[in-house]
Amino acid sequence: MTSLIFYGGLRTIGGTIIAVEYKNKRVIFDFGLTYNPAGQVLDGQVMPRPSALTRDYLRLGLIPPIDGVYPQDSLPSHSSILSAQEYEGETAVLISHLHLDHMGAMGLIDPSIPVYMTKESQHLYESLHTIGEGAPGERTYQTCIEEQPFSIGEIIVTPLPVDHDIVGACAFHIETPEGSILYSGDVRLHGAHPDRIQSFVNQSKGKGFDVLIMEGTTLRNEEQLSVEDLTADASNPEDLLTEEKRVPEQIAKELNAVKGIGVFNIYHRNIERIQNMILAGKEASRTVVLEIETAEIASNHLEEANFHIYESEEIQEEKDNLPLWKRRLLEKYPTVSVQEINKNPEAYLLQNSYPNALELLDVNVESGIYIHSNGVPLGSFDPAYDNLHRLLDLIGLEKVQVDCGGHAIPQHLQYLVDELDPKILIPLHSFHPERLFPPNGKQFLPKYGSVYKLLNGDIFEE
Ligand SMILES: [Zn+2]
Ligand SMILES: [Zn+2]
Repeated sequence: MTSLIFYGGLRTIGGTIIAVEYKNKRVIFDFGLTYNPAGQVLDGQVMPRPSALTRDYLRLGLIPPIDGVYPQDSLPSHSSILSAQEYEGETAVLISHLHLDHMGAMGLIDPSIPVYMTKESQHLYESLHTIGEGAPGERTYQTCIEEQPFSIGEIIVTPLPVDHDIVGACAFHIETPEGSILYSGDVRLHGAHPDRIQSFVNQSKGKGFDVLIMEGTTLRNEEQLSVEDLTADASNPEDLLTEEKRVPEQIAKELNAVKGIGVFNIYHRNIERIQNMILAGKEASRTVVLEIETAEIASNHLEEANFHIYESEEIQEEKDNLPLWKRRLLEKYPTVSVQEINKNPEAYLLQNSYPNALELLDVNVESGIYIHSNGVPLGSFDPAYDNLHRLLDLIGLEKVQVDCGGHAIPQHLQYLVDELDPKILIPLHSFHPERLFPPNGKQFLPKYGSVYKLLNGDIFEE
């Protein structure tokens, strides 16, 4: 019998963790942490305890108490959770993409359990690991190839590439002898690769599936999102702030309108955005200056990258004691100090990530502009967002927003569901999953703590 168990992500943004079991084999997908900066004990000030992560995360409700996943010595003593060593079945974990809400806890999985990600994700992960942004925990990761099926016992998994605001993102088609499931991961249609989504739809229909598990990040309640705005439509509405391909021109326009420095804040796992910032700098005839961590990602993942590295005081003072990866970058790319930038601020487009916000105190920001472009803090739901504004007000730097989100807008979500036309739709990764319905099949909203059986194209509680 094929069963499904939902451990996370049903009514949250991310933290999606689902198990599909057949006989004594199972796959679990994904393994991240729910994104909820305003409601967590780990608020960025309370520091995690590296040696007690699994124990602490379990107690704080950040990861679910799943049998057979965590190493024996990481669990609390006398825990009722079976360790990976005590568990009799075989498990594999699938990671759709490298956003924290999909991979943040994957380092806590017992090293005996394979954790699969696409080749491109694996490549990005190596860079993240180098710059200290890997998932906490010591283990290695396994590679899966897009569009190539692989098996865990009689469960056959096929990763299908999708478009999202990170490289390597995929959906998973998961098939047992009794039925099949399509898990979308995170998707969008207004990005730079809508062709990938079309091909994902075609391949999924070709393979067939009983259950579609679909993200619904942008769904809202009826007051905030009318039924009309949820009408299937694949085109990009006129008032859609930005499509990814329009980001460089929009940024250049903002830059050309000011006489001072351009500062930008992005999320550097979005490699296309790094590329687009470099393009925007070129278009506005400004030198693009990257923080050294972002420079490492740009250097590893962009074919042609024309930028300078920001010469922080750490770089100036510690030059010979820096880790090898930093020294290599400094040999390869030109650097620029804040003193140099301040001589002619309007000639620069300078990266500043939120943790480094105090660097801005040294920068001549007169008549400049702060371009917030999907960097953290992302919005007013994060308490740090007010703090960012506090700092910008204090130094007198005007902020503009140039965003392109990673998640399908509501009419695109409905379009995708209509196209895929599932027998059973399970919307999740959303505050309002109940808003999304399939055109012909049924909507199914699972609960935590239940085991669901999949048989003859239908799903029911055990
Ligand atoms: Zn997500
Ligand atoms: Zn994502």
